Amino acid sequence: MSIQQKINDSPIEFAVQIINDVKNSKDEGVLKCVQCGMCTSTCPAARHSDYNPREIIERVLDGDLSIIEDDSLWDCFYCYTCHSVCPAGNSVCEVNQILKQIAVYKGIGYDKLYEYLGFADSYFTAAIGAIPEIFFTDIDRDVPGWWDFRQHLDEIRSELELDPPLMPPKDVIEEVSKILTITGFKDKIERIRSAEEESK
Ligand code: SF4
Ligand code: SF4
Repeated sequence: MSIQQKINDSPIEFAVQIINDVKNSKDEGVLKCVQCGMCTSTCPAARHSDYNPREIIERVLDGDLSIIEDDSLWDCFYCYTCHSVCPAGNSVCEVNQILKQIAVYKGIGYDKLYEYLGFADSYFTAAIGAIPEIFFTDIDRDVPGWWDFRQHLDEIRSELELDPPLMPPKDVIEEVSKILTITGFKDKIERIRSAEEESK
């Protein structure tokens, strides 16, 4: 008698939930992971933290739901290196995004997102993502001269005979705001903001 793993048997259910998520572009890539570790060996986040993309997939395949609460998940910054090198056609990057989304739905990780809410706000004011002001000091520290460059960007563009940067017109900003409100994005960022501010 042959032994077959049914697609809805535990612990594979967790992997199937990820496969069925709209963010997954790799079909059944998660199930094809051969644990080669190529993702981990090329991952910049793994080089500088405890984050381990190979282990993320191992835990998903083990049905280990506690991964949602693992702080190291937030060390991935979506460079997509793992996505392009995986020999099995998996994307830990996308799996990470799906896991974080599950975490956020469960009210986990708000503290990680709070600092980035300025980025979300800029979609409502400019219809594009902009670096939150709270990061300006750190960026200027890490990239000396950045703030001076930013302050004089218009003059520099003019000296180089470049047109001013193209910004979305008012009607586009209104349309983007409407979409983000109807789809629940606005509610979500307000929920995160108020939960974090109440906890302070
Ligand atoms: S590179 Fe792909 S197959 Fe190899 S461990 Fe990472 S996810 Fe699995
Ligand atoms: S996307 Fe995330 S997991 Fe993949 S290589 Fe980049 S930092 Fe690592």
